[in-house]
Amino acid sequence: MAQMRIVKGVSVASGLALGPVHVVHTTPNVVPTWSVAEEEVPREIERLREAVEIATENLKSREKIVAAEVGERDAAVFSVHRTILQDPSTAKDVENMIREQRINAESAVQTLIERFHKSLSGVQGAKARGFAADFSDPWRVVLDALMSHEREVMEQTDEQVVLAAAELTPQVVTFLPRERVLAVVAETGGRYSHGAVLARSFGFPCVVGLPNLLSRLEQGMRISVDGDAGTVQLRPEKEDVDRFLSLLEQRKERVKKLSQHAALPAQTSDGHRLETMVNIESIRDLDTFNPEHTDGVGLLRTEFLYMERSQFPSEEEQYRLYRRVLERMGRRQVTLRTLDIGNDKQLSYFKTPKENNPALGWRGLRISIEWQDLLRVQLRAALRASAHGNMRILLPMVTSIEEVREVHRIFDGVRRQLADQGFEIPSDVPVGIMVEVPSSVFVLPHLVKEIDFVSVGTNDLVQYLLAVDRDNPWVSKLYDVSHPAVLMALAQVARVAGEAGKPCSVCGEMASDYATALMMLGMGYDAVSVVPSLLPEVKYAVRETSHAEAVQIAALALAETTSEGVRRVLTQARERLHVRQTAMVRGAAEVAAVPELRGDSKKREKG
Ligand code: PEP
Ligand code: MG
Repeated sequence: MAQMRIVKGVSVASGLALGPVHVVHTTPNVVPTWSVAEEEVPREIERLREAVEIATENLKSREKIVAAEVGERDAAVFSVHRTILQDPSTAKDVENMIREQRINAESAVQTLIERFHKSLSGVQGAKARGFAADFSDPWRVVLDALMSHEREVMEQTDEQVVLAAAELTPQVVTFLPRERVLAVVAETGGRYSHGAVLARSFGFPCVVGLPNLLSRLEQGMRISVDGDAGTVQLRPEKEDVDRFLSLLEQRKERVKKLSQHAALPAQTSDGHRLETMVNIESIRDLDTFNPEHTDGVGLLRTEFLYMERSQFPSEEEQYRLYRRVLERMGRRQVTLRTLDIGNDKQLSYFKTPKENNPALGWRGLRISIEWQDLLRVQLRAALRASAHGNMRILLPMVTSIEEVREVHRIFDGVRRQLADQGFEIPSDVPVGIMVEVPSSVFVLPHLVKEIDFVSVGTNDLVQYLLAVDRDNPWVSKLYDVSHPAVLMALAQVARVAGEAGKPCSVCGEMASDYATALMMLGMGYDAVSVVPSLLPEVKYAVRETSHAEAVQIAALALAETTSEGVRRVLTQARERLHVRQTAMVRGAAEVAAVPELRGDSKKREKG
């Protein structure tokens, strides 16, 4: 029965896809564990033996390199490592783990490494600990071979696939080159996690919240993904494929119709303008939209430019990149956010310490202030590039006025240095802050006096307001963008910035939902910044709405005391637009029976 093969999850990014699935088991930092069926045990043992062979070859070539470059004595350690790998009793232990516990080779090797360490953990002395490392080192090479094997195999073809994984992480989303990915599905993952942000920005249909999905998939099995409905269908049959194709046709039609509005400004029917800008993750994003259809780049996440490299980009390299973005955008504003690494946005070449609470740890502006050289290089590159366009600088993770003052001080120094060196740089590059930490919401009345603009990062603001890690699948259900506290914070920021006469926008993912974007317009925001693919939808929603209606949506939503109530108001706003949109797609001249906008809190009070 077709129904049995449809799995309902949570939509992360809209769109449709149909194709073979590739289950991603390995991600760089996580050793994957999965259970192996009895008949698959010999294949798993074979994988282990192949990995040992690859590791042995790898150690041989390292030995040669070190012998040639440093000397035979230092190279000898690699020959000892090869001997360790050849020890038949250890190999047998690992094979037995696979056979008896029915676990994958990676997991068995990891257990072995942990055993080496445990057996010596009680023993004192650096020598003993070094001994454990000596034994586990060659097995780490085996683990590397097992974990990189998956990507290498996939790199041998150019087939397009739907990626499936246990968790939606940035590593999974970027597992293959963009053009090879049809969609991404995952058992767990937050709608606002960094993996989700990337999936949306790459334009991949994406569904999460699919428990036990992996146990029902086989590599290469055909599946279809409906990112709008949040469903995944396994082994679609002919009638399912026909239905899928007709949905695809409808979607294309809708996108075509919406794109007719893409070039028009996001202006309400009563003439109120909401600036609509785009979020950019990578230089490749620049080619995915027409700058003429936007009011600028509301968020250039520069850390992704850093993440795509194997070492820190030089000032020249950054200057060229930023200049390219500015030139592409012409006179439109480009909001360059300074480096926001840490937490799950890690650079392979810059190790941050292992932290128990990385979201509350060493990240964002904190790193820039401590490692000022990094910030200086970035600011130099940005300021030099700013001569080629309309740039403003955005600071992430601001928690206090002191931090802003410190950055201004660094900024002034950089400006002076550039001037001394003869660079002609604009003197009026605006500096703004991301409001994404609750403390900045509260001190905003003071902070706004020291900055030029405000941009709300709802992805982080929600996690910090609700104490719910945006990247932790165990609490993703609690990550609630409709929580009244979130709305109250949003409204407060818009009010304070408005009173101070400072432009304020939202660049977090919440703004990508067109009903929420309308609510933000009603709260007083001047701009929203969203992934390029969702821009036409947001623009269309604004054009179909009056400013008075947006104010009403905001007022009704803010009057609600529960998330459920807020959702109800936003659903009403969505339904109203849906009716109008259906009329638009069908070409109907008249809009029929647009549902009424009505909050329920009043009704309850009366009752
Ligand atoms: C945010 O926190 O809302 C935001 C835009 O920044 P990021 O998602 O990169 O943390
Ligand atoms: Mg953030």
